[in-house]
Parts: sequence; structure tokens; C-alpha cells
Amino acid sequence: MIDRSTPALGDLFQDIILEHYRRPRNKGALQDATVNVHMNNPTCGDEVHLHLVVEEGVVRDVAFEGEGCSISQSSISMMTQMLKGQPVEEGLRLAERFKEMMHGDADAAKDKALRDARALAGVSKFPTRVKCALLGWDAFEEAVERQG
Ligand code: ZN
Repeated sequence: MIDRSTPALGDLFQDIILEHYRRPRNKGALQDATVNVHMNNPTCGDEVHLHLVVEEGVVRDVAFEGEGCSISQSSISMMTQMLKGQPVEEGLRLAERFKEMMHGDADAAKDKALRDARALAGVSKFPTRVKCALLGWDAFEEAVERQG
């Protein structure tokens, strides 16, 4: 049975997550993408197509298409906000930081660099949903590897 409900994370966090879910940032195709990655999370049915324009080690543009639960899609939306205009190296650092937060690291959960994504900190208490939150970041890391 697929559980698409949002776990209880507190009202404020829930609001931020649902806001990104309903009005995702940077959603759509990207004509001049230099790298495209498709990834899914079969345990929940989440899917993402991540499109990036990477030039001279900088994420010039980023967009995504996808569907799935509110955790996965809001997390990807938050991620694209963070990545746009950042050096790839910084993007990878943020990916590490986000993963630390998903493994329950309290310092990472307070790191302002994670911006809206801090609303997902409570997901770490729901192990089955951690994969939902990590889907977009896994796709980003895969994209960096392919881009070379
Ligand atoms: Zn999910």
C-alpha cells in the first residue's frame, strides 16, 4: 500500500512543504540542458526528471519535471532554489548537508544554507520517507557524475 500522506512535522513546516508542493519552483523542461537525469523511488512511486545547465563548474540553470508525494516534490523544488547559480562544488556540499539532516544531525537542521529545506528535518524520524526527501539530491549527484 502506498502512503502518500505527509507525516506530522508541525504546522509551520507542513505549510512550507505544501506550499512548494502546490507551487513548485523551477518546474518544467529546459531546452538547453547540458545534463538530464531520470530517477525514481519505487517504494513510494516518486519520480523526477532533473535538467541542468552546467557551465564552467557552475549550475547556470536548473529545472525539473516529476510527480510523487509531497515530500519528494517539495524537496526537489527547494533543492532547485538552492542550486541555481551555485558552483557545482557548493551544490555537492549542500547535498551532503541535506543528507546529514536526513540522518538526524541537529546542526545540519539549523544550517541556514539549507533554506526552506530545513522544513524537511522532521522527515528523518520517518525512515520510510527519507528516500522521498533524498530523491532530488540523488539525481543531482548523479547529474554531476555524468557531467564529469
Ligand atoms: Zn514519496
